[in-house]
Amino acid sequence: MLEIKNINVFYGKVQALFNVSLEVKENQIVSIIGSNGAGKTTLMSTIVGLNKPAGGEIKFMEETINNQPTHKIIKKGIIYVPEGRRIFYDLTVAENIEMGGYSRKMSPKRYAEEAESVLAIFPRLKERLNQLGGTLSGGEQQMLAIARGLMGNPKLLMLDEPSLGLAPVIVDEVFDVIVNINKIKKIPIILVEQNASMAMNITSMTYVLEVGNVKYQGPSSELAESPEIKKAYLGV
Ligand code: ATP
Repeated sequence: MLEIKNINVFYGKVQALFNVSLEVKENQIVSIIGSNGAGKTTLMSTIVGLNKPAGGEIKFMEETINNQPTHKIIKKGIIYVPEGRRIFYDLTVAENIEMGGYSRKMSPKRYAEEAESVLAIFPRLKERLNQLGGTLSGGEQQMLAIARGLMGNPKLLMLDEPSLGLAPVIVDEVFDVIVNINKIKKIPIILVEQNASMAMNITSMTYVLEVGNVKYQGPSSELAESPEIKKAYLGV
């Protein structure tokens, strides 16, 4: 459903992505791993049209989207939850979730149904609907950022480093949620992660970015066994 072919992306004269190709199929979870500065966030922001590739093509559901503005790409159903969980601190959990569905102009009845179906995946948020976003724990804020993204009715969900800065036990919870979203809502997901071993555990395909290049790609279970990946990304 998403097909990226040979894209090159520049910041001024500096090239950040080199001939990157990537594919996401219906219902698949794909991980993109790589160290700091490898180009993972650049790739995500290019998919949603915040950077324009200098060459190559991005196709989403058979349509070329790399010339389209971000708001149109999001309307097609690509929802990006950026790194850093930028939720609204001064709004309640319920209001944050409402903001996620804002552009869909739903009737109150439809909205209530959607919110209910999203909150079913996030029991912790359901218990905290009236709490201000800024007072949630880091893990809860991450859940809220993802829940808000889901209210946009994604056909493809892109999560940028959802485990960043979270304690291991909370990371487990966030990863469970990601698997549930894929299972229950049948939404394909791109998961950008520095936590390579956990990402490869829950995804079917992995792409490894190194200085703007796809250095390795393949089924996650196979890559997880490769000596190069083990040494460079799994600390084994
Ligand atoms: P991290 O995990 O640290 O976020 P990343 O893999 O997401 O890293 P990017 O943020 O995509 O990497 O950065 C890729 C390269 O592009 C880096 O060399 C970075 O310095 C550069 N870069 C990113 N954003 C900009 C920008 N707005 N202007 C200029 N250079 C940029």
